Amino acid sequence: MYSDLLANLNPEQGEAVTLPPVDQNGHAQSALILAGAGSGKTRVLTTRIAWLIQTGQVSPIGVLAVTFTNKAAKEMLIRLGAMLPINTRGMWIGTFHGLCNRLLRAHHKDAGLPSTFQILDTQDQLSAIKRLLKGLKVDDEKYPPKQLQYFIAHAKERGLRVKDIESGDDFQAKMAQLYQAYDEQCQREGVVDFAELLLRSYELLKHSEPIRTHYQERFRHILIDEFQDTNALQYAWLKLLSGHDGSRPSTQRSAVFAVGDDDQSIYAFRGADVENMRLYEKQFHPMMVKLEQNYRSHGHILDTANHLISNNTERLGKNLRTDAGHGEPVRIYEAASDSLEASWLVDEIKALINSGIQRTEIALLYRSNAQSRIIEHALFSAGLPYRVYGGLRFFERAEIKHALAYLRLLENPNDDTSFSRVVNFPTRGIGARSIEALQDAARAQQCSLYLAASSLEGKAGAALGGFVRLIDHMREATRHNTLPETVEFVIQHSGLIQHYLGEREGQDRVENLQELINAATAFIAEEGYGQDAKAATLPGENAPGDVEVSPLASFLSHASLEAGDNQAQAGQDAVQLMTVHSAKGLEFTSVFITGLEEGLFPHENSVNELNGLEEERRLMYVAITRAKERLYLSHTQSRMLHGQVRYNMPSRFLEELPSDSLKWLTPKAKDARWGGRSSGSTWNDGYTRQREYESNDFFDSGSDRPVTRAHSTLSNNVKRMAAPPRDTYPFKIGQNVFHTKFGEGRVTALEGLDTDARAQIHFKRHGIKWLQLSIAKLAAID
Ligand code: ATP
Ligand code: MG
Repeated sequence: MYSDLLANLNPEQGEAVTLPPVDQNGHAQSALILAGAGSGKTRVLTTRIAWLIQTGQVSPIGVLAVTFTNKAAKEMLIRLGAMLPINTRGMWIGTFHGLCNRLLRAHHKDAGLPSTFQILDTQDQLSAIKRLLKGLKVDDEKYPPKQLQYFIAHAKERGLRVKDIESGDDFQAKMAQLYQAYDEQCQREGVVDFAELLLRSYELLKHSEPIRTHYQERFRHILIDEFQDTNALQYAWLKLLSGHDGSRPSTQRSAVFAVGDDDQSIYAFRGADVENMRLYEKQFHPMMVKLEQNYRSHGHILDTANHLISNNTERLGKNLRTDAGHGEPVRIYEAASDSLEASWLVDEIKALINSGIQRTEIALLYRSNAQSRIIEHALFSAGLPYRVYGGLRFFERAEIKHALAYLRLLENPNDDTSFSRVVNFPTRGIGARSIEALQDAARAQQCSLYLAASSLEGKAGAALGGFVRLIDHMREATRHNTLPETVEFVIQHSGLIQHYLGEREGQDRVENLQELINAATAFIAEEGYGQDAKAATLPGENAPGDVEVSPLASFLSHASLEAGDNQAQAGQDAVQLMTVHSAKGLEFTSVFITGLEEGLFPHENSVNELNGLEEERRLMYVAITRAKERLYLSHTQSRMLHGQVRYNMPSRFLEELPSDSLKWLTPKAKDARWGGRSSGSTWNDGYTRQREYESNDFFDSGSDRPVTRAHSTLSNNVKRMAAPPRDTYPFKIGQNVFHTKFGEGRVTALEGLDTDARAQIHFKRHGIKWLQLSIAKLAAID
């Protein structure tokens, strides 16, 4: 029967799936599948789980699998369900955070947490830190909250508590002291941040021998996807759980199956360390399988990716080939400005949709979130439905966070972050002074704001008492409700709905609040909570890890853990927008990588360090390899970012691509950086400077080979538009001008109307550039 599972795999994939999980001596045998993008790593990992179960080597409850996103975990469960006649519900497949949350819920007492502990997302964490600094009267200019947040996350990701941090200078010492105070505050309030989830569950396993042994014996197979992006703590966690840290004799360890691609390591800034792959090789002695067949991308796309990444020096080395044929060349487009880039994107997307491509199969990728606004605007104006991954997620919207804060207080009234968020929202006459007095009282009594509320007297005390009674009343009244009923009750009785109904633009927010009831309904259905609202457990299994958690508690964890995941609803046909980071592991028929400019991609913070640049290049490799059939790369000459117009050079990555696989939709200059400091061009060659064109959509050359066109200007080839009357422009062709950044230049072409009007200028020192006249600061100098 299991040959069915292997039927959809090539021989190397089949070999990887069926690697023996024990060696001749009966010792667990770990594995490392090292392979490039689109070679089927995730498919192999999923099939491996199915194969292990089907061949009776493990039962579903003996498997622990780690994915990079919640969405990937869901997909894996669905695939497994399709491969095997088993109920996958309750299997331990999830992200590190999701799995650790589960572990801590099951053993909250041993972990030193209240059963109702809440998870702080990054935003909540920052407000908790700000509150802490204020309470301690710490100068937040000297010790910026964000820096403290980073310090704490950084330490936790390395498994370091305050006592493990070596004392440095005064600043370090103060940060460590604040880290300690922050942890105490979290403990008091019964909340944990993301890094704490991991560290706390690591410490739980480390220090509690019976719990550790239970899970070590239970999880005989541990599988992990995207292994290259694990951090030091996650690696230690794996070592511990599998018994490879020395906590178990070599005959009793679990088999680890890791899949990864060193070329796709893109989370170093969050503490991920590709070095873990080398450590793993040394410490787990895994069997290695390389996969070299790519099933995702057509030839030109794959060649482009391979060519680019060969510029990196720090690589483990591997190849990728495809049987899919060359396919379409990679198209490159240069726009004069970001808004023109966006309108080109819209035109191109419309053409793709007309040719029958589904909107969900089109992805627009960008390096920084800030780039999405202008693209969103263009898509919106063109009436093209789109979805943003990662951006401001549903669960991060203010009104949703308010509603969740009330719900969290029902679960855990000592959660001061939630308490502070809604004590006076909607307003109930509790001013900043009263809150300060309350905070002082709570500090003095070493208790939560909720508990301290009754100690205040006077008007403030009465108002606070009213709030506390409201929370208690909501808790009591919803005790026997289903989760959606509770959500509905809370958004009504907290006054949130009425508040937003009274706001001029509150309709959207009211709809979002109502959507929260739908989200709760969907959650109950997906998680399989029955009428009796009990957590689902696997049949016949009542392991401590499968304890019952209330639907509300699970829903609140779910809301906090959705971080960065796709918020698009299944089946909704919309164009997909996301940062390159969040595109990891995904694939689309058509991909646009936008904003390929120096300073943007590669990011300006990275270009001065070799490691930084290599990480950016891996990021570009990830971006390119998301595309199956069509890949577009675009860049612009000017861009409005962070309130400033920037004139960027084209990204160096464009120069690192194989010219045979490219098709320039706009002209490319002969020299290394077109539009940049041109090698052969002099001031005198003016606008008749020779440019080499390759065939493009505007030349019907009838061949795909490069053709050379001479004496052309961008304006009469790129945009076929009637020349506007000359006096439309403030400058004339041939006129000398001065630009604050590029210095002196001469106008060599003019095109476009109104706000789209732009001039091609040949700058003495900076070569040829197109500038949008409504933005560029140009002055005539003769
Ligand atoms: P990434 O590095 O981007 O995470 P990956 O190595 O995990 O990629 P998968 O996502 O597993 O690759 O596979 C890429 C695509 O190729 C998927 O659409 C998958 O279904 C398909 N695929 C993988 N193996 C095969 C195969 N043997 N036959 C046909 N299609 C395959
Ligand atoms: Mg994958």
